[in-house]
Amino acid sequence: MIEKYTLTYAQSLDKEDPLHYLRDEFFIKKDTIYLDGNSLGLLSKRAESTVGSMIDAWKQYGIDGWTKGENPWFYLSEELGNKMSELIGAKPDEVLVTGSTTVNLHQLLATFFQPNETKFKILADELNFPSDIYALKSQLQLRNINPVKGLVQVKSPDGHLLCEDDIIEAMTEQVALIVLPGVLYRSGQVLDMERITKEAHSRGIIIGFDLCHSIGAIPHELHDWGVDFAFWCNYKHLNGGPGSVGGLFVHEKHFGKQPGLAGWFSSRKDKQFDMEHELTAEVHAGAYQIGTPHVLSIAPIIGSLSLFEEAGIDRIRNKSLQLTSYLLELMEHELSGCGFSVKSPVEESKRGAHLFLEHKEAARICKALKEEGVVPDFRAPNGIRIAPVALYNSFADVWRTVAILKQIIKEQSYKKYTNERGIIA
Ligand SMILES: *Cc1c(COP(=O)(O)O)cnc(C)c1O
Repeated sequence: MIEKYTLTYAQSLDKEDPLHYLRDEFFIKKDTIYLDGNSLGLLSKRAESTVGSMIDAWKQYGIDGWTKGENPWFYLSEELGNKMSELIGAKPDEVLVTGSTTVNLHQLLATFFQPNETKFKILADELNFPSDIYALKSQLQLRNINPVKGLVQVKSPDGHLLCEDDIIEAMTEQVALIVLPGVLYRSGQVLDMERITKEAHSRGIIIGFDLCHSIGAIPHELHDWGVDFAFWCNYKHLNGGPGSVGGLFVHEKHFGKQPGLAGWFSSRKDKQFDMEHELTAEVHAGAYQIGTPHVLSIAPIIGSLSLFEEAGIDRIRNKSLQLTSYLLELMEHELSGCGFSVKSPVEESKRGAHLFLEHKEAARICKALKEEGVVPDFRAPNGIRIAPVALYNSFADVWRTVAILKQIIKEQSYKKYTNERGIIA
């Protein structure tokens, strides 16, 4: 029996881990423990290779690359959407790889937010990522609705977590549409999307989810839950690279609806080159793309997705929970009394794929961690996000991180740095 709090024990967990071999598929800098995969996932060899083949297709085919080669560009957004659908429990033609998180949210609001005199409010929460809130406010303003009146943000009891009962209570008759995260970007709380959707629909409210921190991290059943729409980026857990193209989901029950923001790529594929001024919109999720796809920024997603296909989202979730549970256990054993407090849900079903810790010296602790080769993610004013990613982090990474944290605190080496955030955090 190996003692639980030793490196040998962590290494024994790695030996039993069926996903451990996938680590070799990624470019991991020597002597670095990368724990920031929930902000920007690492490059995989497969993603590098599909970028290369896309460049080759351009080299070889020129304009004919739209219909020729391994991945004809004209159909790429739909094809990758089909592949991605498994990750979120959608039907293949309910998903599209296009746009970016914020642009897709604008598109979906332009389509699904149809306020009238009595039902005109959008319900969101006070903890969501700013970009989503800016988009909601600007969409209200476009309809001449004052955001002060039109936007309802559910309060958090503790500044970290949301209470589903509070969300449901806020679903008044005036609410027309709801946008919430699947997993909260700071605390990593998983919302019960199924329950919230059911409650929204029983009140005649349209509901959409931001999956930026949940896609590739936890399983979803968007189709069966009846969620109306969803949107996300592919550069966090999906490792699609900086600025990679995002994704969206529209439930089949809405097929045939006209896109709020139309463009020539909203067209049915066989009609697009008729060049008519009357749009024949695609029937499925394809209708929600606007213009020419950003082919070179889609390319890495092709390779990256094959890793998810191989690993399977259930095994990824399983390992991810083991990693965060192990981190929690080690912290409790090694770092209690060191000033850290865990703000993520401890209950597994409520915990996403990262942990959020608070410490009053968080900014300088993050700088000290980076100096030691550990890459965390600082969130002002005093938060540290740690994401041990199932595809490329190991239990030994978790063990070493806690050992390094302990040393930084013991030796007070963080005091060499100022307690301020950098430009990018
Ligand atoms: C990362 C993230 C975004 C980023 O939006 P982009 O349009 O991709 O820049 C938006 N919302 C949430 C919740 C995020 O986590």
